[in-house]
Amino acid sequence: MKYAIIIPDGAADDPLAELGNRTPLEAAHTPNMDRVAIEGRQGLVRTVPDGFESGSDVAIMSLLGYDPAVYHTGRAPLEAAAQSIPLAPTDWVFRCNVVTVVDDVMKDHSAGGISNAEAQRLIADLSRALELPGFEFHYGVSYRNLLVYRGHEEFNVTTKPPHEIPEQRIDKYLPRGRGSDLLLRIMNRSQELFANHEINQTRRETGLNPASLVWLWGQGHAPNMPRFADRFGIRSACMITGVDLLRGLAALLGWDVREVEGMTSFHDTNYAGQGKATCDALDGYDLVVSHVEAPDEASHQADFKTKLASIEHIDRYIVGPVLEKLRTFDEWRILVMPDHPTNVATRKHGHAPPPFAMAGTRVRSVRPMPYSERNAAAGDLKIERGHELMEYFLRGGNL
Ligand SMILES: [Zn+2]
Repeated sequence: MKYAIIIPDGAADDPLAELGNRTPLEAAHTPNMDRVAIEGRQGLVRTVPDGFESGSDVAIMSLLGYDPAVYHTGRAPLEAAAQSIPLAPTDWVFRCNVVTVVDDVMKDHSAGGISNAEAQRLIADLSRALELPGFEFHYGVSYRNLLVYRGHEEFNVTTKPPHEIPEQRIDKYLPRGRGSDLLLRIMNRSQELFANHEINQTRRETGLNPASLVWLWGQGHAPNMPRFADRFGIRSACMITGVDLLRGLAALLGWDVREVEGMTSFHDTNYAGQGKATCDALDGYDLVVSHVEAPDEASHQADFKTKLASIEHIDRYIVGPVLEKLRTFDEWRILVMPDHPTNVATRKHGHAPPPFAMAGTRVRSVRPMPYSERNAAAGDLKIERGHELMEYFLRGGNL
């Protein structure tokens, strides 16, 4: 049996006036996703359990068959896994954003999309100046760096993602709780050191947002997730994505990760290349997950036209070819679903359960309707515990 899962990140949405009261999934021309829903079935699945923030770290974990209430320890440890940073069970990982704060107000969670070289230089200087044993910095892309702590402090801190507090005063969102004094020392030291740093002098002269300080959040220990092969009995699986978070999850599950030339997290990504890579991977692997970030990014920019175009590209260049490829195997199944809604109207992730569509061997057709949030909600198929969907899919819609 060959399995393919296609994830158009953030594609689900509410109806939009600009689209004649249709959702982007309804307005987009998606003959291949529609075939999946018509030949098979569609329904809703709650990927973000109550009490969790709606984000891909939680939602994709559910989608892949792991209960976030059991396995989600934070966003930073998943990114550490993507970078192959070795972690002992007692080590802590923090996201370490380089941010712009002006007069105690969070202006920019990305410090103007600071370059890798600038961020690395600032963090290297901070690391030298700190003299705090146990802390080690790891460079990521642009503002997305990590801080690993290998020491004895038992943190019990509340932190806040900086992208959730734009234009707000930072005082009430600073780290609180046990161990927060250590984190505040690092943040304060970075503020002193960066204030007159030559990199910031140059950035100010050229009108770019300065790097005011490092902001620590998303902390956790390494999650202890059983390997996918042990849990579901599928021995060979592969992830194709332009996003570190999903590479990290794949590594934790014991999957391979395949790169595609020109694959990005935006609409400029190489859709056709990813479609071909997904088809090729099906020759060698029993399960292939292909994830596209573009619809989510377009939604955060409130750009419904680009969102529509990205959904149509995923349908045409990925879902279509993958369906054709799957039909060359004796037994196969496909699942298409966004991890969570991202609402163009609010520019934020929503909490509505996203629609899924699945088809293939021994999946009987239930209600032949095109794929959409409304049609998925119209049937009685609703999976309340998102992590149960994987079992349902692998068993061909029989639980
Ligand atoms: Zn998003």
